[in-house]
Amino acid sequence: MRYSELSDMYQELEDNSSRLRKTEILSNFLKKLNGGESIYLLQGKAFPDYSEKEFGISERLCIKALSKASGIVGDRIIDDWKKIGDLGEVAEKVIGKKKQNTLFSKSLSVRKVLDNLRKLPELEGKGTIGRKLSLISELLTSASGKEAKYIIRTLIGDLRIGVASGTIRDAIVQTYSNSDEKKEVSGIVQEAYDKTNDFALIFEKMRKGIDELKKIQLNPGHPIKLMLALKADNLEDGFKRVGRPAAFEYKYDGFRMLINKDKKGKVKIFTRRLDNVTNQFPDVAGYIRDHIKADSFIIDSEAIGYDPKSLKYRPFEAISQRIKRKHNIEKLVKELPIEVNVFDILYLNGKSLIGEPFEKRTKIMRDLIKPYKHKIRCSHQLITSDEKKAEKFYKDALKDNQEGLMIKNLHSRYVPGARVGHMLKLKPAENELDLVITGGEYGKGKRAGILSSFTLSCRDEGKFLEIGKASTGLKEKEELGLSFKELNDRLRRFIVKESGRGAVIKPKIIVTIIYQNIQRSPTYKSGFALRFPRIVRLRDDKGLNDVASLKEISDDYVRHELKVHY
Ligand code: ATP
Repeated sequence: MRYSELSDMYQELEDNSSRLRKTEILSNFLKKLNGGESIYLLQGKAFPDYSEKEFGISERLCIKALSKASGIVGDRIIDDWKKIGDLGEVAEKVIGKKKQNTLFSKSLSVRKVLDNLRKLPELEGKGTIGRKLSLISELLTSASGKEAKYIIRTLIGDLRIGVASGTIRDAIVQTYSNSDEKKEVSGIVQEAYDKTNDFALIFEKMRKGIDELKKIQLNPGHPIKLMLALKADNLEDGFKRVGRPAAFEYKYDGFRMLINKDKKGKVKIFTRRLDNVTNQFPDVAGYIRDHIKADSFIIDSEAIGYDPKSLKYRPFEAISQRIKRKHNIEKLVKELPIEVNVFDILYLNGKSLIGEPFEKRTKIMRDLIKPYKHKIRCSHQLITSDEKKAEKFYKDALKDNQEGLMIKNLHSRYVPGARVGHMLKLKPAENELDLVITGGEYGKGKRAGILSSFTLSCRDEGKFLEIGKASTGLKEKEELGLSFKELNDRLRRFIVKESGRGAVIKPKIIVTIIYQNIQRSPTYKSGFALRFPRIVRLRDDKGLNDVASLKEISDDYVRHELKVHY
């Protein structure tokens, strides 16, 4: 297939904001597709979602490649970039202009684009930058303006076609089912995706028939999307929604860890956003070896930090460095030790357990793990129908410096990738949201030249919509594992455009904020405004999919309004 066909479709998707229309466009495209791999390009990638491979291309390198392919000096391209803001559009202009002036036009195939993109993460060592530059400029030299726009946007991870994974799922369903089977097929496709995180694989199986798709199984060592919780208002609400008796567990204040051991004994550890952090946690591999006797398994857990001297548990921020840092691991293991609190099991000795009821899974897990304090143990759990007992358990969790409780239905299966109503979370602070920073404003006086106010955005179908502005709760010297200056340095790498004191920032840095309440407001694109938002945490453990969606915010708003008025 020609890359021009793909970029025409990108353009169509970009021009149409309706999800239904996007699904139709994608479905027509899928019908023309031979191999499934091009689906990755629809997601702005060259690899499946579970892959950790990254292009590792900066905007600066793209500018160099554009300059090389067009013969226009870098500074002029940078000037355009400052004016236009989107490097993709700059590429369209620069390469488009050059194309008009040359007769040379070798047409670009999707295969060639995929091949070159796939070589990028493999390059290492001396001369890497030069080789990356050649791979990119080779593509740009054969590209039209429009093609160049999407190549550049793919490279910098900002495709802007507003296609989330749900739309790709719907397009696959639309292509391969008729209207009365749609709902069932959609469930099957979603389940296969949650188990594999690979749309190309799903597409290939689907072409052979739905039965092939149904055969897809969990595979230890291959990350799967985790099950997420909804909020409970209080214990009574919790009981009402999950039934009696319910399982109550401490909601630990740490970070999620999905621990896998495959048939060959290889341990792999993934975070909630499916990053492979195995190398950062040799201590956990040791706990697994010593305390879980099984050939293969997948367990779901929360890792919490403790002080190596006093052995007191510490908040998440204190240990967040352990996820990111790639060097001096042994030193960090000693300074920032963690305890793994296992709360679910998904797979054991060649058998998937996700279809089993929670009650059974938790028993299997508790029989399997030999607990050892400050290393690995099973989550504190109370199964009860009694609200008073649950209330005391909730107080104990808070006294033990944990965040609150999880409330779980005893009969439910594990649903990868879904925010489910059979697992609820109960925490004292209700007004909390995870948002992404998409802009900033430089301060005045002592704070001149420092970004001190931040635009916060929520997520809506692959786009990010502003919802408020916050100055940070971070202090100059920070206890959040990151100083104010470091936050500035990080954000600056993602500045797309500056005008006056304002800056547009690429959505990369995710923060938890607390706020007083939400109002409807025309000021921001989301249609809502947060009152008194304050940044309380940086969430390196979360990805853009975890940013609060406009729908969640709007539902919360409606629920809250109902509570106030009735
Ligand atoms: P929050 O931001 O409130 O921590 P979250 O957005 O990280 O929540 P949710 O799925 O909404 O994620 O809440 C569940 C999270 O709580 C899990 O992702 C997990 O990291 C954590 N957790 C802590 N203890 C438990 C437990 N016993 N069972 C399940 N999840 C737990």
